[in-house]
Amino acid sequence: MSGFVFNEKPIQIERGDGAYVYDDSGTEYLDMGASYACVPLGHGHEAVQSAVAEQLEKITYVQASYPNAERTALYDLLADTAPDPIDKTWLCNSGTEANEAALKFARSATGNSKIVATMQGFHGRTMGALATTWKNKYKKPYEPLIGDVEFVPYDDADALDEAVDEDTAAFIVEPVQGEGGINPTSPGYLEAAREITEDAGAALIFDEVQTGMGRTGALWNSQRADVAPDMITSAKGLGNGLPIGATLCRDWIAENYGSHASTFSGGPVISAAAGATVSTIVEDDVPENAAAMGEYLQTELEAAIGDEVRDIRGEGLMIGVEVGRGANKALKQLALNHGILALPAGRTVVRLLPPLTIEESHADEVVEAMTEVVG
Ligand SMILES: *Cc1c(COP(=O)(O)O)cnc(C)c1O
Repeated sequence: MSGFVFNEKPIQIERGDGAYVYDDSGTEYLDMGASYACVPLGHGHEAVQSAVAEQLEKITYVQASYPNAERTALYDLLADTAPDPIDKTWLCNSGTEANEAALKFARSATGNSKIVATMQGFHGRTMGALATTWKNKYKKPYEPLIGDVEFVPYDDADALDEAVDEDTAAFIVEPVQGEGGINPTSPGYLEAAREITEDAGAALIFDEVQTGMGRTGALWNSQRADVAPDMITSAKGLGNGLPIGATLCRDWIAENYGSHASTFSGGPVISAAAGATVSTIVEDDVPENAAAMGEYLQTELEAAIGDEVRDIRGEGLMIGVEVGRGANKALKQLALNHGILALPAGRTVVRLLPPLTIEESHADEVVEAMTEVVG
């Protein structure tokens, strides 16, 4: 094989429809990872497909320094649906770039350099975002990364209070850690983070690349916690499968962002895809379904396998099942014996991030399979 970065799995996916994907021999799989949370509306959603097709007919790309109607509409839609007073948007092409921009904006707007990040956190793989990512394996071969990053234990307000000082540009945090094992925060932690950063004049960045787009039961997890950070970063599900990232900012950040740009920022096709994705999520009350189905799935899993596994946790349709060292074996069995594609989160957790449009029957399918695999 001529590619060299991915350790590819022995299933070649050819097409998708809703919560299901099909391999090249026609075998059906329930996509319980939503292809890494990238298709919140399921595969091939009509509204997104037709928005993209219509835009392709008009123009594929125009230089980002000219406005285009699709991008302007997306800016407005994100401003309308973000927690107040966040109403400025920077668009890019991925999660790591959205975080990279957030870190640059925070340094520029505060004049400070220190970044505080969390242990077990994941923010992407470009040099800046990577420096705020916890896992050494991802960082070691590429050092030195950007300096002045301090890590604090996740969900520990006292440790955060100690780390954030008058030299701090930003605290970056996932409101629910994804890659780190599906770790929700305790009540009061995000509020405390808001207070601590505000007192120090530092920017609070919520990395919602995975928690956003309705996954945890509100369009943004920030709205569930009722905390408005200074920046929210998004990507993964934002284009329902097409590549886009966003850094949503308060005015004081946007007014002092420095000098930053990207060639493909908010091209018309991707903006049409994201616009259709966000408006469908809002109009169809998709976050409500995520909340209800998440509760149903967690409750049913607890009843069926609660005694066999170490822990079942999460918010909305972002669920982790702590199965111990056998997580990879469990994932393989789920795929090959039960036709269910799930994801790992570290070595011990089976991660479920299905499309947010799933119904009880899909959840039942997963519970039955998990019962056989870990029971
Ligand atoms: C996936 C992810 C990223 C990185 O996004 P890419 O599009 O892969 O660069 C950053 N933060 C979180 C929380 C993620 O889940």
